[in-house]
Amino acid sequence: MKRLAVFGATGSIGGTCAQVLARDPAKFDVVVLTGGRNLARLAELARALSPRAVVIQDESDLAAMRALLSGMDIEVSAGRAALLDAARRPVDISLQAIVGFAGVETSLIAAAHADVVALANKETMVCAGPMMRRACAQHATTLLPVDSEHSALFQCLLGEKMPEVERMILTASGGPFLNTPLAELHSVTPAQAASHPRWEMGMRISIDSASLFNKAMEMIEARELFDIAPEKIEVVVHPQSIIHSMIGFVDGAIMAHMGPPDMAGAIGYALYYPDRCDAGLARLDFSALSRLDFQPPDAQKFPALGLATKAMTLSGFAGTVFNAAKEQALDLFLENRISFVDMSGLVEAALDDYTRQKWGDAWSVEKLNSIDAQTRVFVTETASKAF
Ligand code: NAD
Ligand code: MG
Repeated sequence: MKRLAVFGATGSIGGTCAQVLARDPAKFDVVVLTGGRNLARLAELARALSPRAVVIQDESDLAAMRALLSGMDIEVSAGRAALLDAARRPVDISLQAIVGFAGVETSLIAAAHADVVALANKETMVCAGPMMRRACAQHATTLLPVDSEHSALFQCLLGEKMPEVERMILTASGGPFLNTPLAELHSVTPAQAASHPRWEMGMRISIDSASLFNKAMEMIEARELFDIAPEKIEVVVHPQSIIHSMIGFVDGAIMAHMGPPDMAGAIGYALYYPDRCDAGLARLDFSALSRLDFQPPDAQKFPALGLATKAMTLSGFAGTVFNAAKEQALDLFLENRISFVDMSGLVEAALDDYTRQKWGDAWSVEKLNSIDAQTRVFVTETASKAF
């Protein structure tokens, strides 16, 4: 039995993980489940998976959570300190699936206490890539990407030599606005932006997919996970999302990873690695799949990709700034204070501001927290001046 912790169990990735676990419950000993504020969902998962401990985000929910789990032998705790403590429990696999910057610190801690970190939280590599790589190296922790593109890249790279990699090609579905004219993007609503054509995901990543900020994050994530030069990273729009990403080698060969667009594939791969499991994926039917389409991304309509290149070129803490600015701009969009297209301008302004800051080159969680907080203030102030 493998001891497993699931951070962000009540989210979209957490739910798909629970489905994968349900296919072979004897295989995993669930040690910890953590959730945000959806107590009913966390209680449902706790009844299904019998963890030793659950942690909820807010201390004010503690009594209600205890009441929901009364009679069960489960430790219940709440609050940020309890969440960080939970990441220190020794486990075989720690699935990191909290959304946003809030999930960075638990990933960093898990790198020191788990044998395998199955990383869905892409913000960890974007905000703290060098720290995460160092922590994994120091503790001989295996880092397995759960983001579908990066799981695909990881699988294409098995047995290969990194110097022979010429290109890393991330596929993008193009999101719900692939064929929407730029002029119409000014007036799209959060609900329209959240309706992804191919993947079922949490609301924030769905809107990030519509602006291509998700793909931009994934470029930086690839750079940090595989230590690959930014100029080798490409993005191609592939609306069917059947090819999950590709590696091009120095001999011109391309290795592509294909499968149905279902996160159970990448989650199952990380949970069972180095074995493969049947995570319940539908099988591709090539007689029904008549074509696969590709097109270059529209850089004018989606400035996020160019901004990712800018952040990678700036290096240092530019990824931390990029993510904080993008998260804050998304909050402002969700509050209807800015339009969909304003988000990229705010991220660009934050990156320009970063070049004027003196953050030095020593990495620490405290510094990440300061940069994150300062960038959010900068973005809010810039938005209130401009709009
Ligand atoms: P989600 O919004 O559905 O779930 C997020 C989880 O994090 C929930 O359990 C929520 O309660 C918890 N959470 C949020 N804020 C928290 C906080 N401050 N403290 C503690 N817990 C908190 O998100 P998701 O779509 O499951 O995505 C999770 C992560 O995986 C993200 O980083 C996302 O980019 C990445 N990812 C998701 C998918 C997908 O298909 N959903 C694919 C690739 C990568
Ligand atoms: Mg992805």
